Amino acid sequence: MELWYSENHTKNVRLSVKINRHIHSGKSDFQRIDILESLEFGRVLTLDGLIMLTERDEFVYHEMMAHVPLAVNPKIETVLVIGGGDGGAVRELAKYPGIARIDLVEIDKMVVEVCKEFLPALSCAFSDSRIEVHYQDGLKFIRHHQNEYDLIIVDSTDPFGPGEGLFTKEFYGNCYNALKERGIMICQMESPFYKSYSAEMARVQKKVSSIFPVARAYQAHIPTYPCGHWLFGFASKGLCPLEDLDESWKGLSIAAKYYNLPLHRGAFALPTYILEALKNA
Ligand code: SAM
Repeated sequence: MELWYSENHTKNVRLSVKINRHIHSGKSDFQRIDILESLEFGRVLTLDGLIMLTERDEFVYHEMMAHVPLAVNPKIETVLVIGGGDGGAVRELAKYPGIARIDLVEIDKMVVEVCKEFLPALSCAFSDSRIEVHYQDGLKFIRHHQNEYDLIIVDSTDPFGPGEGLFTKEFYGNCYNALKERGIMICQMESPFYKSYSAEMARVQKKVSSIFPVARAYQAHIPTYPCGHWLFGFASKGLCPLEDLDESWKGLSIAAKYYNLPLHRGAFALPTYILEALKNA
C-alpha cells in the first residue's frame, strides 16, 4: 500500500510526496506537529499539516535568510530570530564567529523539542552558548527591545494562526525600533505566483516599505514550497543589499551549499510580473 502526504497549494493545485513512515505526531497549545519520512526529501516537518521544511531542501531557505544580511554587514554581532524553532536559521548564523549573541524567540517549546529529537541536522546549533531561546510570542517580545539588534530574522509560519501577528505593521514598526542604526530585518514574503500568496507578498511589501527606508525583495527556489519559488524581504534603515554588499564575505569561508556572492546579486533580479506586483502594492 502506498502512503502519500499531500498539501494543497491552491484549491486546484496539490503537492504530493511519497512517505514511507509517519515518525511523530503531536499537538501543542499552538499547532499540530508532525515528522514524516519521505523517499525524495528525507524527513519532513509539518505544522498544522503544512510543510515547514524538509531535510533535503531546507538549506536553501535557511542560507538565504542568514547569509544575505551577513554579506551586507559582516560586522553583525547581535541577532534576534523570531520563530525558527527548528534551528535551521540559528545553525547558519552560528557559522559566524563575529556574532556574539543570538536571541531565538519561539512561541512553541514543543517545536524545539521535536526538532531536537527528530531533526538533529537542523537543531545541532542549539548547544552553542551564544544562543538563548525564549519561549514567547515574538509579537510581545519585540515591544520591550529598543536599539538592541544588528539583525532581526523573522522566520515565522504563514500569516494565520500563531504567525498572524508577525505580518502586521505594528510588529514591523517594533522591529524597526529594536534595530540599531545599521540594522537589517529579513522576513519571509511567501510565494509570488499563486494569487493568495502573492496578495500576502504585496501586503508585506506595502507595510515594510512604509516603515523602512530600504525595503527590497529577493528570491530563492525551494522545491517543496508553493510553486517552488519563494520571496524574502530585506529591510534596513539605510544599508542596501546590492550597493553595500561586502565582497570580503568570501574571505570568511562560510560553508554554504546554495548561497554565494554572484547568487546574492542574482536573487534581487526579480521577474517583471513580481516587480509590477510589488510596485503596485
Ligand atoms: N524555518 C522553517 C522553514 O524552513 O520554513 C519554518 C519556519 S519555523 C518552523 C516557524 C516557527 O514560527 C514555528 O516553530 C512556530 O511555532 C513559530 N511561530 C509562529 N508564530 C510565532 C510567534 N507569534 N512568535 C514566535 N514564534 C512563532
